[in-house]
Amino acid sequence: MDIRVGQGYDVHSLGEGLRLVLGGIEVPHTKGCIAHSDGDVAIHAICDALLGALALGDIGKLFPDNDPTLKGIDSKILLRKVCQEVTDRGYSISNVDCTIAMQRPKLRPYIDTMREVLAEQMGITADRVSMKATTTERLGFEGREEGVSAMAVVLICKE
Ligand code: MG
Repeated sequence: MDIRVGQGYDVHSLGEGLRLVLGGIEVPHTKGCIAHSDGDVAIHAICDALLGALALGDIGKLFPDNDPTLKGIDSKILLRKVCQEVTDRGYSISNVDCTIAMQRPKLRPYIDTMREVLAEQMGITADRVSMKATTTERLGFEGREEGVSAMAVVLICKE
């Protein structure tokens, strides 16, 4: 059994009046992420974790932020492409664990929907996808509501 682990981290700043897309779904809020794509930090962290497990570099290498065809792109498309890289190499995703750090809004009501949506995109069951949310107790850029960060760890394996 060939087992690989990967970790990912992403940050986006928040801007007033923008769509907030997290974990593949739109979360109602007054602010959203400023980004070339839809700014889904959770998916970006998961993509980086998967790419890290494969030692393929980072999401910016695969999907450059100066590529006009990627402007405003749904990050679920990026996730599916990264998962294809995983399966192309004979690996399957064992599990994903992701934490989103932001002060507001409370994300708990959306967590299970995120898990279902992400699991479907990755072709795995939702019991293999853990999504968590934390505030930073008003500390740092997340606590000041200037930005959102996400961390992810994944395990992939091949028989
Ligand atoms: Mg990003």
